[in-house]
Amino acid sequence: MSLSQVACSIAESPTLRLNEEARLLRERGEPVIHLGIGEPKNKAPITAILSSAAKLSSGDVKYTPTDGLPSLKKAIIRYTEDNYNRIVSPYNIIVSEGAKQSLFNIIFTLCNPQDEVIVLAPYWVSYPEIVRMVGAIPVIVTPEDGGFIPSFEEIERAVGSYTKAIIVNSPNNPSGAVYPDELVAKLVELCESKGIYLICDDIYHKLVFDGRVPAPAYKFTDKDVENTKVIVVNGVAKLYGMTGFRIGWVVAPRRMVEVMTNVQSQTTTCVSPVMQAAAEGALTGMQSIVESLRLSIQNNRDVLMQELRTFTDVRCSKPGGTFYALPDFRAYVRGSVAKDSVALSDFLLKRALVVTVPGREFGMEGHLRLSYAGSVKDITEGVERMKWALDPNAPSEIYIGDRKLVRDWL
Ligand code: PMP
Repeated sequence: MSLSQVACSIAESPTLRLNEEARLLRERGEPVIHLGIGEPKNKAPITAILSSAAKLSSGDVKYTPTDGLPSLKKAIIRYTEDNYNRIVSPYNIIVSEGAKQSLFNIIFTLCNPQDEVIVLAPYWVSYPEIVRMVGAIPVIVTPEDGGFIPSFEEIERAVGSYTKAIIVNSPNNPSGAVYPDELVAKLVELCESKGIYLICDDIYHKLVFDGRVPAPAYKFTDKDVENTKVIVVNGVAKLYGMTGFRIGWVVAPRRMVEVMTNVQSQTTTCVSPVMQAAAEGALTGMQSIVESLRLSIQNNRDVLMQELRTFTDVRCSKPGGTFYALPDFRAYVRGSVAKDSVALSDFLLKRALVVTVPGREFGMEGHLRLSYAGSVKDITEGVERMKWALDPNAPSEIYIGDRKLVRDWL
């Protein structure tokens, strides 16, 4: 079969593959614990449900403007003013099918073939693939100190004459790291002075713990939205637990939004008005929902950290935000159990029925991404099962569902 080389080179999303594997196991009645999941468990806000239900029951569900319903854009303008202290116009906004499409539109709109986009490790799995999809080149910067935040000097060293953009995702998927304001400030300065775009993937921006309030990149530039190189991506998926509604947006200079709108008009026409109405409902409804989600996730983070502390030879930096942690399992990928993080994750799924995501997918071999977006019970039981499977100091017997299992491989 003769297929496109670029298309065939694109990897399957590992997180979506794992979701599918977990679903199939559950369907067979297996008591799987999903610590790989990338979504909060809460129900969608009632204001989102009512607003989309009203749209649906009106029966008037037609194409909308490609860049989004004016009323949703109005809500996004308000959100931008409230959370970023920036006044933007409707021409600076485009609504898409989730932040993933927003990011694709940005990269497709900015990059010529051979242009480079700097991606900071650990990184969200889709960045390098999206960059490669448009014929551009992802340049990965990995922190030399083994941590989760590259230094400014490391990032600056990766900038060359082909650099078109730097993607910053803070709070970070998969590590939960929150970049220091000073680093963001220096990156803004670098990008403004060199004419490089700084793409801020802010999808987790309010899920930050311990009273910290990181400054948005906009704070560090005095240029207005038409002239700054800062581009902001956001959406309702994570903050409101609305992953299935598929609404994301970009705030960018008007000319860029025009080009992205043309691109989107040729791919998806527009986002469903039912889903746009839901997003508007979420953005204009009670915002205490986001704060309750943040508090319950912060509590889950504490439970996870507590559990990991007694896991022999596993180290984990405390996440400052998101609902992910990226503990270091290198002690367990050297021996006979698993040769790398992919094999380790497979081993844990088969033996302990726990879903984790291999660090290799995020540019951090030897680590596993654990999600704590689920219940406290899932976290404690999930880690207990992982210890049973790997840690020689853990008891060798365990109940998984109603089966009593004995470890005989260590
Ligand atoms: N950026 C990051 C860092 C993410 O983790 C995700 C979702 N996993 C997205 C973007 C995509 O969000 P959406 O569901 O709105 O497409």
